[in-house]
Amino acid sequence: MAKYNRIKGTQDILPQESYSWQYIENTIKECMLSFNYKEIRTPVLEKTELFARSIGQETDIVSKEMYTFLDRGKKSITLKPEMTAPVIRAYLENNLGSQSPLNKLYYISSLFRQENPQAGRLRQFNQFGAEAIGSNSPDLDLEVILLALEVYNKLGIRGLNLRINSVGDFTCREPYKKQLKSYLKPIISEYCNDCQQRFNTNIMRVLDCKKNHCRELNNKAPKLIDNLCEDCQTSFDYVKQSLADFEIKYSINPYLVRGLDYYTKTVFEITSDDLGAQDAICGGGRYDLLCEELGGPPTPAVGFASGIERLMMVMDAQDLLKNEFLPLQIYIATLGSDASRESQKWLFYLRKKGFSADKDFLSRSLKAQMRDANRQKAQIVLMLGENEINSHEFSVKEMESGNQSNIKFENIIKYLSNYFNSDPK
Ligand SMILES: [Zn+2]
Ligand SMILES: [Zn+2]
Repeated sequence: MAKYNRIKGTQDILPQESYSWQYIENTIKECMLSFNYKEIRTPVLEKTELFARSIGQETDIVSKEMYTFLDRGKKSITLKPEMTAPVIRAYLENNLGSQSPLNKLYYISSLFRQENPQAGRLRQFNQFGAEAIGSNSPDLDLEVILLALEVYNKLGIRGLNLRINSVGDFTCREPYKKQLKSYLKPIISEYCNDCQQRFNTNIMRVLDCKKNHCRELNNKAPKLIDNLCEDCQTSFDYVKQSLADFEIKYSINPYLVRGLDYYTKTVFEITSDDLGAQDAICGGGRYDLLCEELGGPPTPAVGFASGIERLMMVMDAQDLLKNEFLPLQIYIATLGSDASRESQKWLFYLRKKGFSADKDFLSRSLKAQMRDANRQKAQIVLMLGENEINSHEFSVKEMESGNQSNIKFENIIKYLSNYFNSDPK
């Protein structure tokens, strides 16, 4: 047994798995590029205050799950548990708004929450997401939903459900909270302990409770989408109409409030039939008040975040993941020390010409080298021994067909380019 083990809730992504990660990340980047979202990267560490202020002191994330510690200067530091607040912090700090009135940003990042590890929930996990900052146009609400769906479509994922809701804005939410409070007050003792707590701290989250008993009680509660102000109603209607225009199926879930406090107007989540009923692979919405909350000018914004591990669980269930090495194009097998020395030059030459190429570095027998070439999924083996050096040619084996031939040194690039159907560099 190894002397050191990884920390609970973290994972090693081994070479065979990293192929899937690269594939997913490349697909995300392609989609982001086609929608003209630009990448932003932020530090792992932020001041704790940033998250307490933005996500909300009473949310589970801030009250229970964050990795928070005092640094040597006794400042409270937190490993980022989500990306929207850091992105907005960076947006404000770097004055991106003065450089361009609309900033469309995306990220792929590791995040940290001290949850109980279970399938699809790790303590260090990965998300990708997008944030469009600077416009209140509901066209952007639609765009970020389309963008998330585009990534899933490109990855071949099926059986997704889109749920939307409106959580209103300051104008309609404050009177609604009062209405909800007077509805819940006489019956709150029938709710679970968490809900009784939420009643005092964050009343809207009572509606988000996953417990069956609470959900039944919630059925008769007044709904915010029946009490939206004109502005919120217009925006919500527009989003619904746009989704219909694009023939995107959705359902309205009036109890969808998302775990974070900063949302306004449109919120949405995307779930998969292949995960448990409550497990969203994507969540997002509009957050028009967050910039001000963090000390910036009033700046409307909308975005989403999607968990990559959960996405991979869905892909795994749908047989869409390929956990394998990318094949190596060329393996040079050698016999004798002269050939070994000669092969080193060829190796670098072939790589310069744009091929992936490798050789044996362990002085193995020819037989063992061929086994290694197989294990590496080499497509072509170039054999080099004393005879080949003297006659200035390689003995070439095409691994898939088993065909063997001799090719002169000066013709080898032409041959390989032909075989791999690539232009010689
Ligand atoms: Zn409850
Ligand atoms: Zn409103």
